[in-house]
Amino acid sequence: MVKAQNNPLLGEFKTPHQTAPFDKIENEHFLPAFKKTIAKGEAEIKFVIENPEEPTYENTIVAMESAGRLLNRTAGIFFNLLSSETNDELQKIAQEVSPMLTKFQNDITLNPVLFRKIKEVYAQKDKLNLNAEQQTLLENTYVGFVRQGANLSEKDKEKFREISTELSKLTLTFGENVLKETNAYELHITDKSKLSGLPDGVLEAAAGKAKSKEKDGWVFDISMPSYLPFMKYADNRDLRKELYLAYGSKSFKNNDLDNQKNVKRIVQLRLEQAELLGYKNYADYVLERRMAMNPAGVYKLLDDLYKASYNVALKEKKEILDFARENGFNDELMPWDWSYYSEKLKVEKFDLSDEMMKPYFELSNVVDGVFGLATELFGITFKPNKNIPIYNDEVTAYEVFDADGTFLSVFYTDFHPRKGKRGGAWMNDFKSQWKENGVDSRPHVTIVMNFTRPTETKPALLTFSEVETFMHEFGHALHGMLANSTYSSLSGTNVYRDFVELPSQIMENWAVEKDFLDRFAVHYKTGEKIPAELVKKIVDSQNYLAGYLSVRQLSFGYLDMAWHTLEEPFKGEVKEFEEKAWKKTQLFPVINEVCMSTQFGHLFAGGYAAGYYGYKWAEVLDADAFSVFKEKGLFNKEVATSFRENILEKGGTEHPMVLYKRFRGQEPTVDALLERSGLKQVHPQ
Ligand SMILES: [Zn+2]
Repeated sequence: MVKAQNNPLLGEFKTPHQTAPFDKIENEHFLPAFKKTIAKGEAEIKFVIENPEEPTYENTIVAMESAGRLLNRTAGIFFNLLSSETNDELQKIAQEVSPMLTKFQNDITLNPVLFRKIKEVYAQKDKLNLNAEQQTLLENTYVGFVRQGANLSEKDKEKFREISTELSKLTLTFGENVLKETNAYELHITDKSKLSGLPDGVLEAAAGKAKSKEKDGWVFDISMPSYLPFMKYADNRDLRKELYLAYGSKSFKNNDLDNQKNVKRIVQLRLEQAELLGYKNYADYVLERRMAMNPAGVYKLLDDLYKASYNVALKEKKEILDFARENGFNDELMPWDWSYYSEKLKVEKFDLSDEMMKPYFELSNVVDGVFGLATELFGITFKPNKNIPIYNDEVTAYEVFDADGTFLSVFYTDFHPRKGKRGGAWMNDFKSQWKENGVDSRPHVTIVMNFTRPTETKPALLTFSEVETFMHEFGHALHGMLANSTYSSLSGTNVYRDFVELPSQIMENWAVEKDFLDRFAVHYKTGEKIPAELVKKIVDSQNYLAGYLSVRQLSFGYLDMAWHTLEEPFKGEVKEFEEKAWKKTQLFPVINEVCMSTQFGHLFAGGYAAGYYGYKWAEVLDADAFSVFKEKGLFNKEVATSFRENILEKGGTEHPMVLYKRFRGQEPTVDALLERSGLKQVHPQ
């Protein structure tokens, strides 16, 4: 047992900027700290509920906003460590803690007295003289409850809960079925002559897989690392077709793991849920809390991009077909031929590999370059501080200062993979930003990567895609570090989902600008600047098959919207509905054995229902915003200041379209994205 007074997670942190005392925290401190801080949070909420005074903005909305702050501090530290420095014990604690946190949340959102008070305050919203941020907080609080069914009659509340429970079971089953189907399939080959074209590394992995199953030869399956290289490199067309059909027919075989029934039931329940809450369809419900605002906003984006991409995609298809013909192919081009020939043409067009770029991207140079860009654009500087405790020796902690020397943020970087860190790259915060009693409490932000390690003889040299990843997460970090809100729940990256990737993706644009690269991308041995032809090749290869890739993403967006704008119970067949929904985007003949909807986890097992368009939306935004820098100067201070003041500092304090228009002077258009990706129509003379 740890006594509370000895638990470093409780009480004041006596560290620089009250950063987490990682040097004192042990696994055993977390569970008691969670219990204690949850109890404190409950008491704070109880105080709001039982307050005998008339409910006001301050004693209800603001009081709820600041309730649970100590719990958030504990959770911030715990969940960051769970991703970047985990161990069995932490994972066990997570299992124990997660139902406690769910209960804490549910006790708040399901409390009728609390909702009545919020509703009373909300009813007076026009008389309260609230500023924009306060209005947003009130709106978010009220709408958050309403969207969870708080405003329904008792009978409808019960119905709402039943639907929610069934939906969470069904979406889970949907995902499990797809996973089981993926795991159930294998392609076992014993005759090596059937595997011509596959690179040695791919063959080795397949041989290893066979061995682990105590089989001879090679085993391929339909998991991405096995499927993608096979489709790209295998010369044997019949086998490519076999694997393609196996991949495409997941949960569409009328067996136990078929998802057609689940798709129908999920869209039905979502429609019922939306109708209960007073919406025409599920997309209306979702998009109300998005920058795109409504289905019309989404369809405008999809259609604008479609008009520009489809003919280009057709041209690209012809180019691939011509190339295939030159290489002796004389059949109809099918989906299982696409990766194979397009990869071969890509190699012929762009002779480009990671190894060619890596010498120019030594990690310490890249860090200097990225920090330097932030200094030039926003005037902020980074100073390492060894007195700030860190959770692993590989982490560096910085203090970040504004141009006038004011302290802005603590910033941790954690670059390399190790045991206990999950894969991928992310930005997070240990502590968010808020203001209280005239004090601006600054954030503690972190970025975590899995970059190539240095070796005995070589420093850490990044691939170009790692440089992009760094810039991307750094952009999220800027959103966090420059936050200037009053309320934590509206601060930094707490924005609508189709807006959150703007600050991150815009940074990636600089990564292909020679004027920026020349500042730091020098050969780690010779000091020579990165050659201009190499940069051009990167850009051109990024735009390879831009039309095809755009149309493919659009097809998924159209399919998503078709399912989630249904206003009547769905009675038809899943496959038929799908083909109709995305017909205008298809470049290949219909193949009866395959179905996307039955394996589309984003829509039916994840959180992307009526949100798949978001990928394209984010690209449109970042290209449109960056075009202002392109026009006025890559390092233009005026544009940077406007971006900082209107976007980065504002977090979610106002509607993203309002913020964006203040920066851009107008709503975003698809033009800049079309230009950047080479899709701008060239009109015949
Ligand atoms: Zn991101």
